[in-house]
Amino acid sequence: MAAKQMSSERLKHYEELIKQELKDSVAYIEKINRDQSIGARESSGDLSSYAFHQADQGSDTNLMEQTVMMMEQEREKIRLLNDALNRIYDGVYGNCETCGELIQETRLDVIPYARNCFDCTEKMEDKKRRQRR
Ligand SMILES: [Zn+2]
Repeated sequence: MAAKQMSSERLKHYEELIKQELKDSVAYIEKINRDQSIGARESSGDLSSYAFHQADQGSDTNLMEQTVMMMEQEREKIRLLNDALNRIYDGVYGNCETCGELIQETRLDVIPYARNCFDCTEKMEDKKRRQRR
């Protein structure tokens, strides 16, 4: 079975898209790191005791936890974007890892690092939901 391949114009388009998103994510993390280190210096200079003291104060804690969570999501996204970039260079980008069909472009435009098509993602989430019960 010959693998379906995305046209080189589309590949180029997604390569640019992925590189742009990578740049945004890295800039975002750098910005937060800057903000965080300023905040830490202004309190005790030690990030762990900073977090500890904040734990008594409610809303600031939530903000801190949110920031940490967003940082983790962003780091994960960078990992996925780098993966996707490698798949472009390997010539396997755009193919669903489960069924081998091309991933819908409407999906890739929103999630350029998607590894599975709509249908397979739905099926997987379905399975996960059922296993949880
Ligand atoms: Zn699929």
